[in-house]
Amino acid sequence: MHGRNHTAQVLRFGQEFFLLDCGEGTQHQLQRFKIKTSKISSIFISHLHGDHYLGLIGLLSSFHLSKRTQPLTLFGPKGLDDILTIHFRWSHTQLCYPLTFVLTQDQEKRILLDQPGYSLSSFPLSHRIPTTGFLFQEKAGPRSLIKEKVMENALSVEALQHLRRGEDYQESSGKWCRVKEFTHPLPKLRSYAFCSDTAFDERLIPYLQGVDLLYHEATFMDAEAKRAVDTYHSTAKQAATLALRAEVGTLLLGHFSSRYAELSNLLAEAQSVFSNSLLSEEGKTYALPLHHE
Ligand SMILES: [Zn+2]
Ligand SMILES: [Zn+2]
Repeated sequence: MHGRNHTAQVLRFGQEFFLLDCGEGTQHQLQRFKIKTSKISSIFISHLHGDHYLGLIGLLSSFHLSKRTQPLTLFGPKGLDDILTIHFRWSHTQLCYPLTFVLTQDQEKRILLDQPGYSLSSFPLSHRIPTTGFLFQEKAGPRSLIKEKVMENALSVEALQHLRRGEDYQESSGKWCRVKEFTHPLPKLRSYAFCSDTAFDERLIPYLQGVDLLYHEATFMDAEAKRAVDTYHSTAKQAATLALRAEVGTLLLGHFSSRYAELSNLLAEAQSVFSNSLLSEEGKTYALPLHHE
């Protein structure tokens, strides 16, 4: 495998950690890269091919052995609950932390987590078995007020509430309080999409439109395009084509076939279509910094 491990990504937002897929060896990699697993609040499994979930039983068992108490929510396709139930039944394990299983479906986009600061959705991918991608979208929080301006103009409490929500407000005196004048600009909202295993499929574009960072599998190079079709995987060029059409910020390539010891040519193929393409590297963090409008 040329030193490459199976798919697993930690998505961090503030103090929250989400685990996207959990291939074999994930818990060792989490230890190696010093990820605080107690902070992982949710795990999302894209599909039931072994390279995306075979690390899950080990990880859930380790949480049990280390006496985790924090609740954990697991999102995954039909069948994953059966697999886990059978394992834990026959190993006589009663997990010591609350584990909630939420079924995903691969027919349409679905919001899985809807929180004040973000939402996390699943959307269908095109693969040999039911498979979903995952989309993280940051939400606008309240706007921060420009204190000096507010003091100078002695605005009412109602006006402040509206301005924080991003709404202009008219005082009873008739004076308009404008969001632009009294609040700082909002940072640009960030988004991330994860396409684990999928054939090239233009129907994904609406889900991916304008995301800041897109992870898309790029199992093959162009010479293996036929094989990509047969196995419901993508080539680097196809991933790049999708990134280009969906007008994403950056494309992160991954899930490389073990036939490629060296990946610079695969990257070059993607970059010939979409220049802002990167190879995903193990243990590396890809940050989406805050940008103000
Ligand atoms: Zn697969
Ligand atoms: Zn795979």
